[in-house]
Amino acid sequence: MSEFSLIDHYFKHLTASRADVSTGIGDDAAVVQVPLGKELLVSTDVLNIGVHFPLETSPFDIGYKSLAVNLSDMAAMGAVPCWVTLSLSLPEENADWLEGFSRGFAQLANQHQVQLIGGDTTKGPLSISVTIMGLADKGRARLRSAAKPGDLIAITGSIGDAALGLDCLLNDLDMSEEDRSFCISRLNQPTPRVSVSGLLAPYVNAMIDISDGLVADLQHILDESHCGAVLYVEKLPLSSAGQQYIRQTQDWVRMLSGGDDYELCFSFAKENLHDIEAIAQQMNLALTVIGYIESEPHMQLLLNGEAYTAARKGYDHFGA
Ligand code: ADP
Ligand code: MG
Repeated sequence: MSEFSLIDHYFKHLTASRADVSTGIGDDAAVVQVPLGKELLVSTDVLNIGVHFPLETSPFDIGYKSLAVNLSDMAAMGAVPCWVTLSLSLPEENADWLEGFSRGFAQLANQHQVQLIGGDTTKGPLSISVTIMGLADKGRARLRSAAKPGDLIAITGSIGDAALGLDCLLNDLDMSEEDRSFCISRLNQPTPRVSVSGLLAPYVNAMIDISDGLVADLQHILDESHCGAVLYVEKLPLSSAGQQYIRQTQDWVRMLSGGDDYELCFSFAKENLHDIEAIAQQMNLALTVIGYIESEPHMQLLLNGEAYTAARKGYDHFGA
């Protein structure tokens, strides 16, 4: 199959069409309409084999996750994802791989009414680069720099699961079969918190998605907002697999620094707590207050009232 028939076959009609796409795949550039009063948000994530997913990850999961992590970036901004481009570097034309990959990608895209509008296809070591574009009302994108002293800090869902999932795959971590498959699915098919983000955004100051680990990602908010934080480690929301792991190991560092959960971490004024809890309840999503922002610019971790020193930071590709 030529490059062009490959694009036609797998990608041209992969996702449902949106009314605001004047020209999609097939021209030199896509043309989309940005409504008056909205701002365009753009974000890119690259996934490389062996770095972002183990070699044996299924093509479906790779397709799913490569879009999920990008949707999560839009969620972190309080934006509505609309359009994506996909740049694929493939070692060979492998029909099974392309079939599985595009199914995983399309499933999530169609769930969020996101249209694939372009990309690039080249030969080389497996690498996937997705650029996502979304919309937010002018001036309403939620920034890392907007946390204020006195804000509460909350996170959605549970954390640490994806890190445990990776441990199951790489180190054969001892776990029940049920916990194991839960953690692996959290790793391979993370749920981007897009819908809840849209509801939360008006009540939130700073927001980020947890991709590199809670401590590392919260630190980005603190750096950008020139603030510090107090975190109550024992309050971290854990799944039953996470709770079991903590009972066995007391290894909170895993939960504080494990990446890939794609939950939202955000700060908000205390008076919004009631509204925020109501949204979580309406969405049937766990939401946990884990600490607060303070003006002193450092992060203080407390475990049952005692200072807790986390040894491990989040994932850093160029870190020592
Ligand atoms: P160009 O030569 O202008 O770079 P290409 O031949 O690379 O164009 O691509 C042809 C069309 O197919 C373009 O509209 C491009 O955006 C789209 N395209 C190429 N690869 C992909 C892909 N992996 N997913 C979606 N669209 C793609
Ligand atoms: Mg090209």
